[in-house]
Amino acid sequence: MAGPAYLDWNATAPLRPEARAAMTAALDAAGNPSSVHAAGRAARRLVDEARERVAALVGASPKDVVFTSGGTEANALALSPSIGGSLLASTIEHPSVRCGGRFTVVEDVPVTADGIVDLSALERLIAGRDRPLVSIMLANNETGVIQPIAKAAEIVHAAGGLLHVDAVQGPGRIACNFKALGADLMTLSAHKLGGPQGAGALIRRDGLGLEALIKGGGQERGARAGTENVAAIAGFGAAAEAVGKALAGEVAQMTALRDKLEAGIKAVAPDAVILGAKSARLPQTTLFSVPGMKAETAVIAFDLEGVAVSSGSACSSGKVAPSHVLAAMGVEPELARGAIRVSLGYSTGPNEVESFLKAWAKLAESLYKARKHRGIAA
Ligand code: PLP
Repeated sequence: MAGPAYLDWNATAPLRPEARAAMTAALDAAGNPSSVHAAGRAARRLVDEARERVAALVGASPKDVVFTSGGTEANALALSPSIGGSLLASTIEHPSVRCGGRFTVVEDVPVTADGIVDLSALERLIAGRDRPLVSIMLANNETGVIQPIAKAAEIVHAAGGLLHVDAVQGPGRIACNFKALGADLMTLSAHKLGGPQGAGALIRRDGLGLEALIKGGGQERGARAGTENVAAIAGFGAAAEAVGKALAGEVAQMTALRDKLEAGIKAVAPDAVILGAKSARLPQTTLFSVPGMKAETAVIAFDLEGVAVSSGSACSSGKVAPSHVLAAMGVEPELARGAIRVSLGYSTGPNEVESFLKAWAKLAESLYKARKHRGIAA
């Protein structure tokens, strides 16, 4: 009997033990980090230590880390007309970027059929603009396709603009160095790297002035008011430190399992398509489809077998809308409708991949039977 398998790490990663320990300890710290007494100073130390750990993970300076309630808020904080005359965002960005933050207009930067931002289009679109702000993600949450950030940064800076990078899906899967990428602003989310849900950060270059979204007590150097969520921030810091130490070995393990999983998908369904497979991808993400498959029913079938996967973007699961990412790549609607995302993590083992493949063999068999019944060749 195959055991349960959690294979939806791009939606949320299970809490790392280091994060749980740090959070449990921090829950007993009674002070407000803004208070001057000993209890306040102890809470402040927890926040500052986490700030150093998050900064170290991405090679940034601790003073340039602004803690937020997560990736969504960090994106909203970054996208402000106070630092850019116009906003250009790739068509595959997360909805929290696609909505434009405080900009009223978002201009599209297209992607290729392989899911990579079209840099010549970016160059054309940015020419002659006053202080353009460009937002491009480090890796796409649905396909896992890694974007050419350093090259995009060169283009944006040559045009006198600023580059915001939504790096939420990066840490723990690929190297993510703020300075090497050439970003001016970078978004992180704790729960994608084994920290708690409800914590994140915006990294800014050299104290770049930000217009606060939440105004009040002046916390986070005036960039984000409100008493800090000390336990969540401490958990974020501990997870960031653990991720920084572990990356190389974990990546090799995830890549091997992901390759086994993809070979297994194709072994029972030769016409399965791995979306974005021609591009460099995150080592633990597979987005696949088979003509005739319906993602919503497939997710339920997997769930009944104890296997957690998602249909397209988990942030939009629950609503049966076609993926804007696959539409932007020009994937046929029939294929896009069946797209299933399987995402692994550092603690995923061979047994979980086996569980997935058992469930997939069952599902593929019924899919091919149904197709035969409808007169479609398998
Ligand atoms: N950006 C990307 C690429 C994401 O995948 C997500 C969450 O799925 C977010 C932003 C939002 O992050 P959070 O859930 O921390 O608000």
